[in-house]
Amino acid sequence: MIKGNFPTTQFESFETPFYYYDMALLRETLDTIRKETAGKPFHIHYAIKANANEEILKLIASYGFGADCVSGNEILRALECGFPAHRIAFAGVGKTDREIRIGLENDIFCFNVESMAELEVLNELAAEMGKKAPVALRINPNVDAHTHQYITTGLNENKFGINEQDLPTLLRMIADGGHINLIGMHFHIGSQITDLSSFEDLCVKALELREWFHTQGVTLPVINVGGGLGINYHHPNHCPIADFESYFRLFEKYLKLEEGQTLHFELGRSVVAPCGSLITRVIYVKEGIQKKFLIVDAGMTELIRPALYQAFHHIENISSEKPYTSYDVVGPVCESSDVFVRDFMLNESKRGDLIAIRSAGAYGETMASNYNLRELPASRYSDNI
Ligand SMILES: *Cc1c(COP(=O)(O)O)cnc(C)c1O
Repeated sequence: MIKGNFPTTQFESFETPFYYYDMALLRETLDTIRKETAGKPFHIHYAIKANANEEILKLIASYGFGADCVSGNEILRALECGFPAHRIAFAGVGKTDREIRIGLENDIFCFNVESMAELEVLNELAAEMGKKAPVALRINPNVDAHTHQYITTGLNENKFGINEQDLPTLLRMIADGGHINLIGMHFHIGSQITDLSSFEDLCVKALELREWFHTQGVTLPVINVGGGLGINYHHPNHCPIADFESYFRLFEKYLKLEEGQTLHFELGRSVVAPCGSLITRVIYVKEGIQKKFLIVDAGMTELIRPALYQAFHHIENISSEKPYTSYDVVGPVCESSDVFVRDFMLNESKRGDLIAIRSAGAYGETMASNYNLRELPASRYSDNI
């Protein structure tokens, strides 16, 4: 079996667990995105919530991409790391007054508005500040993303987005309010989507809605299709970069833009997941009756995805070349769900071996917690370890 390329000898002296980022792979990924969108009216807003690490943000910003933020603090972090305000989109169902003010003060690109109540507050706060807030309405397209229930967001019975039947009222509110500048429509149907036909359904829906807006005399220069492109968690060494070519080609084919219209993408996972690995050490090998357990020093506190979404991460022992044998790899946290993988083939392992949990660059470090009063994990970068 092919394994990832890790500087294991250097890792030996480091305290574990830590996140390790392959910056060359991140650059290659960003180059691919740039190549696949070149010459098209496509704009990328990297979804900061996937990984808000400053080194990573600075590199992504250096490519001229924008940011998609879901909190006021993410807007501030994006600005600090070099994302220009006019490329920052601000999403989220529960924006507080403070967060809305941060967006308004900094003249960000767009507020992705998710409810009537939010639109009212945004209009009031913009009026107080003597501004007009740029808005894209997050519309619930009722498209099934065929992904895990916790990361499906585009169905009607979801907390996210505005339902179609409310659109006429919203248009009236915008006309009456006076401090909203409606520039676009926004969608985000879910995450870790590998069946691209869900995005085709989204394109069809977006075109239908564009027609409806035309019947209301409204032309929207911005169509934002959100994020959600999945990666191959099973084969990090064979498929280190998501299929951006097919993804962008699909939108080019199915979502024909009008003159002056731009298409916006909020990619998170597909940009950063493959470049990150969680490096952990075997504390104990525990022989059960029918199973062997590797108890490692990272747990759901460092990487919660397996516990939260039953997510799979490929795992490698990067210290051992011994024959493969089956293990359950588990963390030290006092929760039964603190399991990284069950019945997984790894090189025969011993106490002290280093283990790489792959494809952990998205929703890994950003979701880490202090539960059990554990330390937050450190991060290291291939450029300067
Ligand atoms: C989380 C999120 C994204 C990014 O999703 P990925 O699956 O990581 O690409 C984009 N837009 C919005 C509104 C989000 O909430």
